[in-house]
Amino acid sequence: MENCIFCKIANGVIPSATVYEDDDFRAILDIAPAHKGHVLLLPKNHFDNLLCADDDIAAKALPIVKRIANALKTVTGCDGINVLQNNGTAAGQSVFHLHIHIIPRYEGDGILPVWDQGSYADGEAAEWAAKIASALE
Ligand code: 5GP
Ligand code: ZN
Repeated sequence: MENCIFCKIANGVIPSATVYEDDDFRAILDIAPAHKGHVLLLPKNHFDNLLCADDDIAAKALPIVKRIANALKTVTGCDGINVLQNNGTAAGQSVFHLHIHIIPRYEGDGILPVWDQGSYADGEAAEWAAKIASALE
């Protein structure tokens, strides 16, 4: 992906503040952090987002996210961590190369919106569950 900024960063073509690197991934500091220490985990291969990522890469990502989250907790003393991953513009994705945000959080910081809690009518949750389960087959 010649014009993908995260391909260039993940593969070291553009330098970045790197916190972790292996054969498949680079983790960097977000250039415009929600809080200091906000990390992005990028695969070195290009996938537009999680929905089209290789299972192998998806499976390798979470243990790395866990390690980085624990390191962030140690370094920042934060109260919590958000692991956030946006797919599509409607979901807030602005860079179309798969990345996972690992964000330190502090009590009362209010930096991320919380949704209004919806509800299901009687029987509706079962219908939705069945629909989604059949799409997984
Ligand atoms: P998204 O909105 O796609 O989930 O997140 C994209 C993130 O990438 C944003 O938080 C943004 O600050 C970060 N970002 C965009 N361009 C660059 C860049 O060139 N370098 C770094 N380190 N982060 C970037
Ligand atoms: Zn890319």
